[in-house]
Amino acid sequence: MLDFQKLKKAVVYAAGSSQFYRGRLRGFDPRELRGLDDFTRLPFSDKYDLRHAYPLGLLAAPPEEIVRVHSSSGTTGQAVIIPYTRQDVEDWATMFARCFALAGVTRADRVQITPGYGLWTAGIGFQAGCEKLGAMAVPTGPGNTEKQLQLMLDLQSTVICATASYALLLAEEVQKRGLADKINLKRGVIGSERWGELMRRRIAEQLRIELFDIYGLTEIYGPGIAIDCPSHAGMHYWDDFIYCEVIDPATGRVLPEGETGEIVVTTLRKEGAPLLRYRTHDISRLIPGQCPCGRSYPRLDRIVGRTDDMIKVKGVNIYPGQIEDILRQTPGLSSEYYIEIDYDENGKERLSMRAESAAADRAAVSRAVERTFRAKIGLRVRCECVGLGELPRSEKKTRRVFDKRAE
Ligand code: ZN
Repeated sequence: MLDFQKLKKAVVYAAGSSQFYRGRLRGFDPRELRGLDDFTRLPFSDKYDLRHAYPLGLLAAPPEEIVRVHSSSGTTGQAVIIPYTRQDVEDWATMFARCFALAGVTRADRVQITPGYGLWTAGIGFQAGCEKLGAMAVPTGPGNTEKQLQLMLDLQSTVICATASYALLLAEEVQKRGLADKINLKRGVIGSERWGELMRRRIAEQLRIELFDIYGLTEIYGPGIAIDCPSHAGMHYWDDFIYCEVIDPATGRVLPEGETGEIVVTTLRKEGAPLLRYRTHDISRLIPGQCPCGRSYPRLDRIVGRTDDMIKVKGVNIYPGQIEDILRQTPGLSSEYYIEIDYDENGKERLSMRAESAAADRAAVSRAVERTFRAKIGLRVRCECVGLGELPRSEKKTRRVFDKRAE
Protein backbone atom coordinates (compact mmCIF):
# COMPACT_ATOMS: atom_id res chain seq x y z
CA MET A 1 0.00 0.00 0.00
CA LEU A 2 1.33 3.41 -0.91
CA ASP A 3 1.86 5.71 2.04
CA PHE A 4 1.25 9.06 0.38
CA GLN A 5 2.64 11.03 3.33
CA LYS A 6 5.96 9.26 2.86
CA LEU A 7 5.99 10.16 -0.81
CA LYS A 8 5.13 13.76 -0.03
CA LYS A 9 7.88 13.93 2.56
CA ALA A 10 10.36 12.74 -0.07
CA VAL A 11 9.24 15.50 -2.45
CA VAL A 12 9.43 18.18 0.25
CA TYR A 13 12.92 17.02 1.18
CA ALA A 14 14.24 16.95 -2.40
CA ALA A 15 12.65 20.27 -3.32
CA GLY A 16 14.09 21.94 -0.23
CA SER A 17 17.53 20.39 -0.01
CA SER A 18 18.81 19.41 -3.43
CA GLN A 19 20.23 22.11 -5.66
CA PHE A 20 19.16 20.05 -8.65
CA TYR A 21 15.51 19.79 -7.56
CA ARG A 22 15.36 23.35 -6.28
CA GLY A 23 16.02 24.36 -9.87
CA ARG A 24 13.79 21.75 -11.35
CA LEU A 25 10.76 22.44 -9.15
CA ARG A 26 11.07 26.22 -9.08
CA GLY A 27 7.69 27.87 -8.52
CA PHE A 28 6.16 24.70 -7.11
CA ASP A 29 5.32 24.45 -3.40
CA PRO A 30 5.58 20.77 -2.48
CA ARG A 31 3.45 21.33 0.62
CA GLU A 32 0.53 21.75 -1.76
CA LEU A 33 0.90 18.20 -2.96
CA ARG A 34 -2.48 16.73 -2.15
CA GLY A 35 -2.58 13.34 -3.81
CA LEU A 36 -1.09 10.99 -6.31
CA ASP A 37 -2.58 13.01 -9.17
CA ASP A 38 -0.50 16.02 -8.16
CA PHE A 39 2.53 13.80 -7.82
CA THR A 40 2.19 12.44 -11.36
CA ARG A 41 2.34 16.00 -12.66
CA LEU A 42 5.86 16.47 -11.30
CA PRO A 43 8.55 16.44 -13.99
CA PHE A 44 10.59 13.28 -14.58
CA SER A 45 14.30 13.28 -14.01
CA ASP A 46 16.64 11.49 -16.32
CA LYS A 47 20.27 10.49 -16.49
CA TYR A 48 20.73 13.20 -19.11
CA ASP A 49 19.64 15.86 -16.59
CA LEU A 50 21.78 14.40 -13.84
CA ARG A 51 24.86 14.79 -15.99
CA HIS A 52 24.42 18.54 -15.86
CA ALA A 53 24.58 18.33 -12.08
CA TYR A 54 28.16 16.98 -12.24
CA PRO A 55 29.99 16.74 -9.92
CA LEU A 56 27.89 17.33 -6.80
CA GLY A 57 24.77 19.16 -7.92
CA LEU A 58 22.60 16.29 -6.66
CA LEU A 59 23.88 16.73 -3.13
CA ALA A 60 20.99 17.28 -0.72
CA ALA A 61 22.72 16.79 2.64
CA PRO A 62 25.47 18.86 4.31
CA PRO A 63 28.79 17.78 2.70
CA GLU A 64 30.16 16.57 6.05
CA GLU A 65 27.30 14.03 6.21
CA ILE A 66 28.50 12.30 3.05
CA VAL A 67 30.47 9.14 3.76
CA ARG A 68 30.92 7.78 0.23
CA VAL A 69 30.34 8.51 -3.43
CA HIS A 70 29.65 6.19 -6.33
CA SER A 71 29.56 6.94 -10.00
CA SER A 72 27.49 5.48 -12.78
CA SER A 73 29.50 3.94 -15.57
CA GLY A 74 29.08 6.88 -17.93
CA THR A 75 29.54 4.83 -21.10
CA THR A 76 28.47 7.85 -23.10
CA GLY A 77 29.15 11.38 -22.01
CA GLN A 78 29.53 12.73 -18.53
CA ALA A 79 29.46 10.35 -15.55
CA VAL A 80 27.03 10.97 -12.70
CA ILE A 81 28.30 11.19 -9.12
CA ILE A 82 25.96 9.92 -6.42
CA PRO A 83 26.74 10.94 -2.82
CA TYR A 84 25.65 8.65 0.07
CA THR A 85 25.12 9.55 3.72
CA ARG A 86 25.66 7.01 6.49
CA GLN A 87 21.93 6.31 6.49
CA ASP A 88 21.94 5.75 2.71
CA VAL A 89 24.77 3.24 3.01
CA GLU A 90 22.93 1.46 5.83
CA ASP A 91 19.62 1.48 3.98
CA TRP A 92 21.23 -0.02 0.94
CA ALA A 93 22.81 -2.79 3.03
CA THR A 94 19.44 -3.43 4.67
CA MET A 95 17.73 -3.79 1.30
CA PHE A 96 20.51 -6.01 0.02
CA ALA A 97 20.44 -8.24 3.09
CA ARG A 98 16.69 -8.63 2.53
CA CYS A 99 17.41 -9.64 -1.06
CA PHE A 100 19.82 -12.35 0.02
CA ALA A 101 17.37 -13.58 2.67
CA LEU A 102 14.56 -13.72 0.11
CA ALA A 103 16.80 -15.82 -2.14
CA GLY A 104 17.26 -18.25 0.75
CA VAL A 105 20.81 -17.21 1.68
CA THR A 106 21.58 -17.69 5.39
CA ARG A 107 24.47 -17.07 7.78
CA ALA A 108 25.80 -20.52 6.93
CA ASP A 109 26.43 -19.51 3.30
CA ARG A 110 29.69 -18.54 1.61
CA VAL A 111 29.06 -15.90 -0.98
CA GLN A 112 31.53 -15.43 -3.83
CA ILE A 113 31.17 -11.89 -5.12
CA THR A 114 32.47 -11.43 -8.66
CA PRO A 115 31.00 -8.02 -9.61
CA GLY A 116 33.50 -5.17 -9.70
CA TYR A 117 34.58 -2.95 -6.83
CA GLY A 118 35.37 0.73 -7.04
CA LEU A 119 33.32 3.69 -8.15
CA TRP A 120 30.77 1.30 -9.56
CA THR A 121 28.12 0.20 -7.02
CA ALA A 122 28.12 -3.51 -7.72
CA GLY A 123 30.70 -5.37 -5.62
CA ILE A 124 30.47 -3.34 -2.45
CA GLY A 125 26.66 -3.56 -2.42
CA PHE A 126 26.76 -7.35 -2.55
CA GLN A 127 29.40 -7.40 0.17
CA ALA A 128 27.60 -5.01 2.54
CA GLY A 129 24.35 -6.98 2.17
CA CYS A 130 26.13 -10.27 2.71
CA GLU A 131 27.87 -9.03 5.84
CA LYS A 132 24.68 -7.45 7.17
CA LEU A 133 22.95 -10.79 6.79
CA GLY A 134 25.88 -12.49 8.48
CA ALA A 135 26.97 -14.78 5.65
CA MET A 136 30.62 -15.09 4.68
CA ALA A 137 31.68 -12.79 1.86
CA VAL A 138 34.36 -14.00 -0.56
CA PRO A 139 35.04 -10.73 -2.40
CA THR A 140 36.93 -11.92 -5.46
CA GLY A 141 35.80 -9.12 -7.74
CA PRO A 142 35.71 -9.74 -11.49
CA GLY A 143 38.01 -11.64 -13.79
CA ASN A 144 40.84 -14.10 -13.16
CA THR A 145 38.67 -17.14 -13.81
CA GLU A 146 41.47 -19.47 -12.70
CA LYS A 147 41.48 -17.98 -9.22
CA GLN A 148 37.67 -17.80 -9.07
CA LEU A 149 37.41 -21.53 -9.67
CA GLN A 150 40.18 -22.32 -7.20
CA LEU A 151 38.47 -20.35 -4.43
CA MET A 152 35.10 -21.81 -5.37
CA LEU A 153 36.59 -25.28 -4.79
CA ASP A 154 38.79 -24.54 -1.80
CA LEU A 155 36.27 -22.49 0.15
CA GLN A 156 33.28 -24.47 -1.12
CA SER A 157 31.36 -21.30 -1.97
CA THR A 158 27.61 -21.89 -1.86
CA VAL A 159 26.42 -18.68 -3.55
CA ILE A 160 27.79 -17.04 -6.69
CA CYS A 161 27.07 -13.37 -7.41
CA ALA A 162 27.80 -12.34 -10.99
CA THR A 163 26.55 -10.73 -14.15
CA ALA A 164 24.75 -13.23 -16.36
CA SER A 165 27.59 -13.14 -18.91
CA TYR A 166 30.22 -13.92 -16.32
CA ALA A 167 28.09 -16.63 -14.70
CA LEU A 168 27.80 -18.25 -18.13
CA LEU A 169 31.55 -18.04 -18.65
CA LEU A 170 32.16 -19.65 -15.23
CA ALA A 171 29.52 -22.32 -15.92
CA GLU A 172 31.19 -23.24 -19.19
CA GLU A 173 34.62 -23.44 -17.50
CA VAL A 174 33.24 -25.64 -14.72
CA GLN A 175 31.74 -27.92 -17.36
CA LYS A 176 34.89 -27.98 -19.47
CA ARG A 177 37.06 -28.94 -16.51
CA GLY A 178 34.63 -31.50 -15.11
CA LEU A 179 34.30 -29.63 -11.80
CA ALA A 180 30.52 -29.85 -11.46
CA ASP A 181 30.73 -32.61 -8.82
CA LYS A 182 33.46 -30.88 -6.85
CA ILE A 183 31.93 -27.45 -6.37
CA ASN A 184 29.25 -26.74 -3.79
CA LEU A 185 27.24 -23.90 -5.32
CA LYS A 186 23.53 -23.83 -4.53
CA ARG A 187 22.38 -20.39 -5.59
CA GLY A 188 23.28 -17.67 -8.04
CA VAL A 189 22.38 -14.01 -7.54
CA ILE A 190 22.62 -12.50 -10.97
CA GLY A 191 22.43 -8.82 -11.69
CA SER A 192 22.99 -5.81 -13.87
CA GLU A 193 22.01 -7.21 -17.22
CA ARG A 194 18.89 -8.32 -18.98
CA TRP A 195 19.25 -11.96 -19.90
CA GLY A 196 17.16 -14.57 -21.60
CA GLU A 197 15.62 -17.84 -20.55
CA LEU A 198 18.09 -19.97 -22.50
CA MET A 199 21.08 -18.38 -20.87
CA ARG A 200 19.38 -18.84 -17.50
CA ARG A 201 18.78 -22.52 -18.20
CA ARG A 202 22.37 -23.15 -19.27
CA ILE A 203 23.83 -21.47 -16.20
CA ALA A 204 21.40 -23.23 -13.86
CA GLU A 205 22.00 -26.66 -15.41
CA GLN A 206 25.76 -26.46 -15.69
CA LEU A 207 26.34 -25.08 -12.20
CA ARG A 208 23.34 -26.97 -10.73
CA ILE A 209 22.07 -23.88 -8.95
CA GLU A 210 18.86 -21.92 -8.47
CA LEU A 211 19.08 -18.45 -10.00
CA PHE A 212 17.75 -15.17 -8.65
CA ASP A 213 17.66 -11.95 -10.65
CA ILE A 214 18.65 -8.91 -8.64
CA TYR A 215 17.75 -5.43 -9.79
CA GLY A 216 18.99 -1.92 -9.19
CA LEU A 217 20.92 0.97 -10.63
CA THR A 218 23.67 3.19 -9.34
CA GLU A 219 21.53 6.33 -9.32
CA ILE A 220 19.14 4.57 -6.91
CA TYR A 221 21.55 3.01 -4.38
CA GLY A 222 22.77 0.24 -6.72
CA PRO A 223 21.74 -3.41 -7.10
CA GLY A 224 19.51 -4.68 -4.31
CA ILE A 225 16.29 -2.70 -4.64
CA ALA A 226 14.43 -5.77 -5.97
CA ILE A 227 14.97 -9.51 -6.31
CA ASP A 228 13.31 -12.70 -7.55
CA CYS A 229 11.61 -14.70 -4.83
CA PRO A 230 11.61 -18.50 -4.52
CA SER A 231 8.35 -18.60 -6.53
CA HIS A 232 10.15 -16.90 -9.44
CA ALA A 233 7.03 -14.96 -10.23
CA GLY A 234 8.59 -11.54 -10.61
CA MET A 235 10.93 -9.44 -8.47
CA HIS A 236 9.77 -8.05 -5.13
CA TYR A 237 10.86 -4.47 -4.53
CA TRP A 238 11.19 -2.69 -1.23
CA ASP A 239 8.31 -0.25 -1.23
CA ASP A 240 9.34 1.19 2.13
CA PHE A 241 12.44 2.59 0.36
CA ILE A 242 11.32 3.27 -3.20
CA TYR A 243 8.13 4.09 -5.06
CA CYS A 244 7.79 2.62 -8.58
CA GLU A 245 5.66 3.76 -11.49
CA VAL A 246 5.54 2.36 -15.02
CA ILE A 247 5.07 4.87 -17.82
CA ASP A 248 4.66 4.89 -21.56
CA PRO A 249 8.19 5.89 -22.61
CA ALA A 250 6.92 7.85 -25.59
CA THR A 251 4.23 9.95 -23.88
CA GLY A 252 5.17 9.86 -20.19
CA ARG A 253 1.66 8.72 -19.26
CA VAL A 254 1.47 6.54 -16.13
CA LEU A 255 0.32 3.05 -17.10
CA PRO A 256 -2.01 0.86 -15.07
CA GLU A 257 -0.63 -2.16 -13.21
CA GLY A 258 0.12 -5.03 -15.57
CA GLU A 259 0.99 -2.92 -18.60
CA THR A 260 4.52 -2.91 -19.97
CA GLY A 261 6.50 0.32 -20.10
CA GLU A 262 9.43 2.16 -18.55
CA ILE A 263 10.11 1.85 -14.82
CA VAL A 264 10.23 5.20 -13.00
CA VAL A 265 11.54 5.29 -9.43
CA THR A 266 11.22 7.79 -6.59
CA THR A 267 13.44 7.33 -3.54
CA LEU A 268 11.54 7.66 -0.26
CA ARG A 269 14.41 7.90 2.25
CA LYS A 270 17.51 8.80 0.32
CA GLU A 271 19.38 11.71 1.91
CA GLY A 272 22.58 12.18 -0.10
CA ALA A 273 21.00 12.33 -3.55
CA PRO A 274 17.22 11.87 -3.50
CA LEU A 275 15.54 11.25 -6.84
CA LEU A 276 12.00 12.04 -7.86
CA ARG A 277 10.37 10.20 -10.76
CA TYR A 278 13.67 8.98 -12.11
CA ARG A 279 13.43 7.37 -15.53
CA THR A 280 15.39 4.12 -15.45
CA HIS A 281 14.93 3.36 -19.17
CA ASP A 282 14.32 -0.26 -18.12
CA ILE A 283 11.27 -1.88 -19.62
CA SER A 284 9.05 -4.03 -17.42
CA ARG A 285 5.64 -3.99 -15.74
CA LEU A 286 4.17 -4.02 -12.25
CA ILE A 287 2.62 -7.43 -11.60
CA PRO A 288 -0.88 -7.18 -10.13
CA GLY A 289 -2.14 -9.39 -7.32
CA GLN A 290 -0.57 -11.46 -4.59
CA CYS A 291 2.65 -13.40 -5.16
CA PRO A 292 2.33 -17.18 -4.75
CA CYS A 293 5.13 -16.96 -2.14
CA GLY A 294 2.77 -14.99 0.09
CA ARG A 295 4.99 -11.92 0.57
CA SER A 296 3.23 -8.60 0.32
CA TYR A 297 6.09 -6.56 -1.18
CA PRO A 298 4.95 -5.48 -4.66
CA ARG A 299 6.48 -7.00 -7.77
CA LEU A 300 8.19 -5.90 -10.95
CA ASP A 301 8.40 -8.36 -13.79
CA ARG A 302 11.74 -9.31 -15.32
CA ILE A 303 13.36 -6.55 -17.32
CA VAL A 304 12.63 -7.19 -21.01
CA GLY A 305 14.80 -4.46 -22.45
CA ARG A 306 15.91 -0.85 -22.30
CA THR A 307 14.18 2.01 -23.98
CA ASP A 308 17.57 2.83 -25.47
CA ASP A 309 18.16 -0.66 -26.86
CA MET A 310 14.86 -0.60 -28.54
CA ILE A 311 15.80 -0.76 -32.20
CA LYS A 312 13.64 0.68 -34.87
CA VAL A 313 13.98 -0.99 -38.25
CA LYS A 314 11.69 -0.13 -41.14
CA GLY A 315 9.41 1.60 -38.65
CA VAL A 316 9.04 -1.46 -36.40
CA ASN A 317 10.09 -1.31 -32.71
CA ILE A 318 12.09 -4.34 -31.59
CA TYR A 319 13.19 -5.10 -28.02
CA PRO A 320 16.03 -7.59 -27.47
CA GLY A 321 13.64 -9.57 -25.23
CA GLN A 322 11.55 -10.38 -28.29
CA ILE A 323 14.58 -11.72 -30.12
CA GLU A 324 15.40 -13.92 -27.14
CA ASP A 325 11.87 -15.28 -27.18
CA ILE A 326 12.34 -16.30 -30.79
CA LEU A 327 15.62 -18.03 -29.99
CA ARG A 328 13.95 -19.87 -27.14
CA GLN A 329 11.18 -21.09 -29.42
CA THR A 330 13.59 -22.41 -32.03
CA PRO A 331 15.06 -25.81 -31.16
CA GLY A 332 18.82 -26.25 -31.50
CA LEU A 333 19.94 -22.77 -30.42
CA SER A 334 22.06 -21.56 -27.51
CA SER A 335 21.46 -18.25 -25.75
CA GLU A 336 24.10 -16.33 -27.64
CA TYR A 337 23.38 -14.13 -30.62
CA TYR A 338 24.11 -10.83 -32.16
CA ILE A 339 22.23 -8.58 -34.48
CA GLU A 340 23.54 -6.12 -37.01
CA ILE A 341 21.60 -3.41 -38.80
CA ASP A 342 22.98 -1.72 -41.88
CA TYR A 343 21.99 -0.80 -45.42
CA ASP A 344 22.02 -3.11 -48.42
CA GLU A 345 23.29 -2.19 -51.92
CA ASN A 346 19.99 -0.48 -52.66
CA GLY A 347 20.12 1.66 -49.55
CA LYS A 348 17.40 -0.35 -47.79
CA GLU A 349 17.66 -1.18 -44.09
CA ARG A 350 18.95 -4.70 -43.57
CA LEU A 351 18.83 -6.86 -40.45
CA SER A 352 21.35 -9.69 -40.03
CA MET A 353 21.75 -12.04 -37.14
CA ARG A 354 24.29 -14.59 -35.96
CA ALA A 355 23.33 -17.23 -33.43
CA GLU A 356 25.05 -20.24 -31.88
CA SER A 357 23.70 -23.70 -32.56
CA ALA A 358 24.74 -27.21 -31.62
CA ALA A 359 22.57 -28.69 -34.37
CA ALA A 360 24.11 -30.77 -37.19
CA ASP A 361 22.10 -28.93 -39.84
CA ARG A 362 22.75 -25.30 -38.95
CA ALA A 363 21.30 -24.04 -42.20
CA ALA A 364 17.93 -25.56 -41.30
CA VAL A 365 18.02 -23.87 -37.88
CA SER A 366 18.88 -20.56 -39.55
CA ARG A 367 15.87 -20.84 -41.89
CA ALA A 368 13.63 -21.65 -38.90
CA VAL A 369 14.82 -18.51 -37.10
CA GLU A 370 14.12 -16.42 -40.22
CA ARG A 371 10.59 -17.81 -40.50
CA THR A 372 9.75 -17.22 -36.82
CA PHE A 373 11.23 -13.72 -36.97
CA ARG A 374 9.07 -12.86 -39.95
CA ALA A 375 5.96 -14.29 -38.29
CA LYS A 376 6.47 -12.71 -34.85
CA ILE A 377 8.08 -9.36 -35.61
CA GLY A 378 7.00 -8.84 -39.20
CA LEU A 379 10.49 -8.21 -40.55
CA ARG A 380 12.87 -10.13 -42.74
CA VAL A 381 16.17 -11.11 -41.12
CA ARG A 382 19.13 -12.98 -42.57
CA CYS A 383 20.31 -15.52 -40.00
CA GLU A 384 23.57 -17.42 -39.92
CA CYS A 385 24.21 -20.05 -37.26
CA VAL A 386 27.73 -20.70 -36.00
CA GLY A 387 29.00 -23.40 -33.63
CA LEU A 388 28.68 -23.25 -29.83
CA GLY A 389 31.23 -20.93 -28.24
CA GLU A 390 32.08 -19.15 -31.51
CA LEU A 391 30.51 -15.82 -30.63
CA PRO A 392 32.54 -13.60 -28.28
CA ARG A 393 31.95 -13.85 -24.50
CA SER A 394 32.41 -10.99 -22.10
CA GLU A 395 33.12 -10.61 -18.41
CA LYS A 396 30.95 -7.53 -18.41
CA LYS A 397 27.76 -6.82 -20.25
CA THR A 398 27.66 -8.53 -23.60
CA ARG A 399 26.84 -6.23 -26.46
CA ARG A 400 24.41 -7.88 -28.84
CA VAL A 401 23.08 -5.17 -31.09
CA PHE A 402 25.34 -3.45 -33.60
CA ASP A 403 23.61 -0.62 -35.38
CA LYS A 404 25.82 0.37 -38.29
CA ARG A 405 23.34 2.68 -39.97
CA ALA A 406 25.04 5.79 -38.65
CA GLU A 407 28.48 4.77 -39.96
ZN1 ZN B 1 7.14 -13.82 -4.11
